[in-house]
Amino acid sequence: MPNHRLPLNNLPAEGRELVLDDAAIWAENLGQFHMDCRVRTPLSVRLHIMPLEEGYLVRGHLSGSVTLPCNRCAEDVTVELDAPFEEFEDVPDPADGQDTAPGDSHIVLDKGVPLLDMAALCWEEFVLALPMNPLCSPDCRGLCPQCGANRNREQCTCEQEGGDPRLAVLRGLTVKKGWTNTEK
Ligand SMILES: [Zn+2]
Ligand SMILES: [Zn+2]
Repeated sequence: MPNHRLPLNNLPAEGRELVLDDAAIWAENLGQFHMDCRVRTPLSVRLHIMPLEEGYLVRGHLSGSVTLPCNRCAEDVTVELDAPFEEFEDVPDPADGQDTAPGDSHIVLDKGVPLLDMAALCWEEFVLALPMNPLCSPDCRGLCPQCGANRNREQCTCEQEGGDPRLAVLRGLTVKKGWTNTEK
C-alpha cells in the first residue's frame, strides 16, 4: 500500500485539513483483493485531523464513483460515492511496549512519534462506503438459473417450457394435496 503516513506530533490545536487523492491507494488494494470494482471518476478523500486529549478526531469525506457488477445480473452498475465519516483514533501507549494501539486505530508509533496511516484509513472508509447489494435497478430480474440469459433483456425458453423450478415444486404440492379425492 502506498505510504501516506502523517506525523501528528506538530499538529496545530485547530487541526489540519488535507486531501488524499493518490489513485494508487485504491488501485493497489483493488488488485490485491481481486475486487471486481473499477474506479470511474477519481476517488478523493478530504480529511480534517484534530488533536484531542486522548487521541485524534478524524473527520472526512470520500467522493468519487466506481463501477461494480450488479448482484443479480452482473451488468455494470455505476455507484456514486459521497460518504462522510468520523473516526476517533487512539494513540498507542508506549508503556504497552507496542507500536500499534489496540482496536482499529490507524495510528502507529515510529520512534515515539505518532503517525496516522492515511492510506489504510482511506481504504477502509472506501470499503465501508461501497453498497452491500449493488443492483442495476431495484427490479432487476437477474439471470436465468438454468441457461444464464439476462432476463432483463430476453425471455429464454427455459421459462416457457418448465417455468421457474421453485414454482414447479409448489405446483407439485398443490396437485398432491388435490381437492379431487377428498371433496367428491
Ligand atoms: Zn441487474
Ligand atoms: Zn433460461
